[in-house]
Amino acid sequence: MSDTSVVSNSIDIEAIRAQFPILHQQVNGKPLVYFDNAATNQKPLSVINALKHHYEADNANIHRGIHTLAERSTTAFEDTRKAVQAFINANEAEEIIFTKGTTESINLVASSWGRKFLNEGDEIIVSGLEHHSNIVPWQLIAEEKGAKVKAIPVLENGDLDIPAFSNLLSDQTKMVAVNHASNSLGTINPVREIIEMAHAAGAKVLIDGAQASSHLIIDVQALNADFYALSAHKMYGPTGVGILYGKRDLLEKMPPYQGGGEMIKEVSFDGTSFNDIPYKFEAGTPNIADVVAFKAAIDFINELGKENIAAHEAELLSYATKALKEIEGLKIVGEAQEKVSVVSFTVEDIHHFDLGMWMDAKGVAVRTGHHCTQPLMDRFCIEGTIRASFSVYNTKAEIDTFIAALKDVIKKFKP
Ligand code: PLP
Repeated sequence: MSDTSVVSNSIDIEAIRAQFPILHQQVNGKPLVYFDNAATNQKPLSVINALKHHYEADNANIHRGIHTLAERSTTAFEDTRKAVQAFINANEAEEIIFTKGTTESINLVASSWGRKFLNEGDEIIVSGLEHHSNIVPWQLIAEEKGAKVKAIPVLENGDLDIPAFSNLLSDQTKMVAVNHASNSLGTINPVREIIEMAHAAGAKVLIDGAQASSHLIIDVQALNADFYALSAHKMYGPTGVGILYGKRDLLEKMPPYQGGGEMIKEVSFDGTSFNDIPYKFEAGTPNIADVVAFKAAIDFINELGKENIAAHEAELLSYATKALKEIEGLKIVGEAQEKVSVVSFTVEDIHHFDLGMWMDAKGVAVRTGHHCTQPLMDRFCIEGTIRASFSVYNTKAEIDTFIAALKDVIKKFKP
């Protein structure tokens, strides 16, 4: 059994766990072990309290009222925009557009940029590691514009085949859309290199940062990304909120995504003129309270320090991977050179859903299935995997519990 009261890499895990009320409960009569963090991670009290405080003290619609509550609400909302700008090192706060999440951010670019800049015969390159939300929006716009979607192949270890990517690039390539880290296998992609190669071919690049945001340092200027998308709920923040980062000159050239209030300068029946960025892309009343609480999530990550979070999670990943490898009949899917804290595996002769259900009976929450990456599952000729993913509040003791539970469940099927 490993040490529970760890002070790991200058962060005190027990003090962190105390900030997450949801972790301190029994599920099916057993203490909860929450290893489904890649789907959504849990929220600290600071985020929960920010949400509560907004509705108890400041709630009003933003950007329109001149009364005190409207001003407070607007300031808090715009403070989150500035916090996101700093978090990803964008050049200006105006380059940050609030959306429902990564999915909506990618749809915004595919619809708005794609409708204006894609033509028949153009090509969009995604990768074999993508979440459906970074495939389907491109297929939809490609179909509409007569463009083609191509995919970078995935190597046996879960890394992208970069030489094959180089061969896919051509004068027809207009957009390259890849994730920073894979939700299914944990692979960290060499996005800086991918962006450089795509730019050399004259293409724009969108990075899906959904799985990178709580683990990796993001610097959109150093990366030279044209677009970057992320979701608050995968970084200790609320669901239903995310952002799209876009370079100013690109956002300014793009038509609005949706029409409505806030995104206009003037409306008449002779024509409508549109607001400046970011408001041009923020039609209607946004998810104000959750955007406000998102700032508390960013503060939580900043206070702990991304390097410290990453070091602790890397320790958990290597501890879990080593223990899993000792289990007979278990195969890890995806052993890329660089990974975020996600480990996917299959167990010979046992369906992943059965394993997941029995793990839940033991209080262990893991994800089972294709993880919205069916092309990737096809690549490995499997239907799905069991996925354990770790956040900063997880411990080696929880991994011990998970491994013991897994061994017990396997014994049920293969006595
Ligand atoms: N991209 C990746 C890599 C993801 O892991 C996810 C969610 O799991 C998404 C996109 C979609 O994010 P959301 O559902 O928050 O829009």
